[in-house]
Amino acid sequence: MSLPALTLNDLHFGPDGLIPVVTQDARTGAVLMQAYADRAAVERTLATREATYFSRSRGQQWIKGATSGHTQRIVDVRLDCDGDSVLYRVEQTGAACHTGEYSCFYRSMLDGQPEVAARNSGAESSAAENGLDGTLERVYATITERLATLPEASYVARLHAGGLDRVLKKISEESGEVLLAAKNGDRAELATEVADLFFHTLFAMAEVGVGPADVAAVLQAREGKTGLKGPKEIG
Ligand code: AMP
Ligand code: ZN
Ligand code: ZN
Ligand code: ZN
Repeated sequence: MSLPALTLNDLHFGPDGLIPVVTQDARTGAVLMQAYADRAAVERTLATREATYFSRSRGQQWIKGATSGHTQRIVDVRLDCDGDSVLYRVEQTGAACHTGEYSCFYRSMLDGQPEVAARNSGAESSAAENGLDGTLERVYATITERLATLPEASYVARLHAGGLDRVLKKISEESGEVLLAAKNGDRAELATEVADLFFHTLFAMAEVGVGPADVAAVLQAREGKTGLKGPKEIG
């Protein structure tokens, strides 16, 4: 079920023109940071899908990641019950905190608590236990980080320099290799080729600005539907 979308007029800004913003990792639910936004910052956030705040210390608009590259791609913007605080649900690139910690809330006032909030819900467990869970998001985050900084020795930077068309051709080639590996029943080869296909697909998504959450939303909307409404009919 979905309710009608709220508008900027539903927001109650304080006497200083600001509203508190809590920012959350849309995938894990981790609380990343708390900051403030003015009307223009919320407006920009909604329009560009880039988390934008108002820096009280600098007295100016603050696009998260503008200097660090640690941007936050907006998945949702929610308003609390009485309209006096906002929730940004994001895909975080790199670290949310300027100290380099993933979450600003890495310290506790109680004894015996873990020092750092884990970046990934199951960060300590093995890939074999978790399957793909979180891996695609991590690879995607690395790709967007490399695209933001374009380091010299980076494969992502090289792909970017070569242009999107070349990568799209690569995706088509990798699809063919997936097809062959599957046909041959070669399990190790199939896993490798699917990984290649996923990686280059994630790269194309990052270039076009589609995040894992966008794809997850489509898949999740289809979950629980009958086989008759499977990919064949949807596609
Ligand atoms: P960034 O927006 O990540 O490019 O960082 C730019 C500046 O904003 C940093 O040098 C910090 O002064 C500040 N900053 C960045 N992230 C945070 C945060 N999570 N909490 C408070 N200040 C921050
Ligand atoms: Zn409230
Ligand atoms: Zn911080
Ligand atoms: Zn389709």
